[in-house]
Amino acid sequence: MQIISTKQELLSVVETCKQRHQSIGLVPTMGALHKGHASLVRRCVRANDISFVSVFVNPTQFNNKEDLVKYPRNPQADAQLLASLGVDYMFAPTPEEMYSAQEMASTFAFDFAGLDRVMEGKMRPGHFNGVVQVVSRLFYLVRPDRAYFGEKDFQQLCIIRHMVERSSLKDTFGNLQIIGCPIYRGKDGLALSSRNARLSKEEKETAVNISRVLFMSKAWAKAHSVKEVEKMVTKAINSVPGLEVEYYQIVDATTLRPAKTFRHAVGCVTVYCGPVRLIDNIKY
Ligand code: AMP
Repeated sequence: MQIISTKQELLSVVETCKQRHQSIGLVPTMGALHKGHASLVRRCVRANDISFVSVFVNPTQFNNKEDLVKYPRNPQADAQLLASLGVDYMFAPTPEEMYSAQEMASTFAFDFAGLDRVMEGKMRPGHFNGVVQVVSRLFYLVRPDRAYFGEKDFQQLCIIRHMVERSSLKDTFGNLQIIGCPIYRGKDGLALSSRNARLSKEEKETAVNISRVLFMSKAWAKAHSVKEVEKMVTKAINSVPGLEVEYYQIVDATTLRPAKTFRHAVGCVTVYCGPVRLIDNIKY
């Protein structure tokens, strides 16, 4: 595996792949890689001639500077894991390599067609502007045929699909296919996340209750309304000492508008476990 840190080198490598008519797969990540990331990477390596994984803690998507500073970083272990999975290129640029000073200081403008007005977008103003900024830039640089995103970040996946399939930018991405990959969970049900590294052993045990309640809510959904299930999930998670729900919303899986029924619906939750903000979701 080759590690690339400059755009110029990346462009040159991609150009060679294109000249050889090799298919390109891309997995964008912020590093501190775990088995959830590995599940995306495996699919990428299997389906494409050449696979790229970006490892970049994107400063423009952090509305909370403390979160950016505390975000776990482990570039050497990341490189080892990616090499063992058969990745061809790891792209690990610095913020200065990715952005001009002006880009760093301003908010990337984008029409989200309302997809950013709810849940993560509402709670983290500007977050998805930064996500679209970095992902669109990676797409311009790598020109992938397929790009892989986890359903764990459900709203992010919806917004990336919107960007590639319906937004004003869509014609610039060619035939790029966005592949959504299922949430990878530990045996205890906890959705794997880089942020889990910040949880103590006890907090991890507490956090398991998030998925436990979500799984239970599928049974509740058979006999209750959407609003009732929203209330039950919120109450059940909040009743666990150490957990505090920021929001739990059952939304349409494409429009992210409040769901009226459980058809094509997904329940998205954000929970504080101590100081660590965790997200998870479940399809009904
Ligand atoms: P991140 O490094 O957190 O930005 O994640 C990079 C990609 O991996 C995103 O598309 C995430 O949705 C995906 N991802 C992170 N954790 C998981 C997981 N537990 N299962 C599946 N995909 C995941």
